[in-house]
Amino acid sequence: MTRDKGKMFIFTAPSGAGKTTIVQHVLQKFPFLGFSVSATTRTKREKELDGRDYYFLSKEEFDRKISEGAFAEWEEVYTGLFYGTLHKEIERVWQEGRHLVFDIDVQGALRLKKLFGHRCMSIFVKPPSTEVLVQRLTARNTETPENLAKRIAKMKEENQFENHFDMVLVNDILPIACTEAEHIVQTFVFGIDQS
Ligand code: ADP
Ligand code: 5GP
Repeated sequence: MTRDKGKMFIFTAPSGAGKTTIVQHVLQKFPFLGFSVSATTRTKREKELDGRDYYFLSKEEFDRKISEGAFAEWEEVYTGLFYGTLHKEIERVWQEGRHLVFDIDVQGALRLKKLFGHRCMSIFVKPPSTEVLVQRLTARNTETPENLAKRIAKMKEENQFENHFDMVLVNDILPIACTEAEHIVQTFVFGIDQS
């Protein structure tokens, strides 16, 4: 994949809407996709691996990368927690001959869309309701009560942006949402839906 042929799929959503689940599904289904591993200053969760899920950086390392201009976009997604997409990561996946898949927040998604324009399909994953989203986040059991509250507050902000994206994908029944995501990917890569 050369730089001029590579496409991008940006999945964005309020935390808990199910974008990681859907992203993992399309990555498994389509070997021609590659995940953009973000850098973050948040602490690693039990099942996460450095370099696979995120590049876990100290705040000092993250700041150094900002000053070096290493990020295509970065964001303080939650107070004191920084996340960003490294230019190098975009090049790495394209060099491997794959189209990129991102799992990033709404502001980062808008920024990448602005940078990469028509090569980029932006998808807002939407939970069927706020109540369902809170239930899913609580059931995932990965957040402290403080972090859970931060995520719920941010969700209310992020929900206002759904009209800024190319597609809205409602994640109610998971297999249906996954099939819809497959159709979006195939249509954007091949021009037709091959399923
Ligand atoms: P996000 O990456 O948007 O924060 P996740 O993919 O981690 O969200 O999903 C949040 C939780 O909800 C996870 O425990 C996941 O297994 C569950 N989940 C995702 N989609 C559905 C769905 N359609 N129905 C029920 N549970 C779901
Ligand atoms: P989590 O801590 O649950 O893994 O992610 C928190 C939020 O940060 C999610 O909305 C996720 O999509 C977002 N995020 C992850 N990586 C990036 C990134 O590189 N840039 C931006 N802007 N947001 C990111």
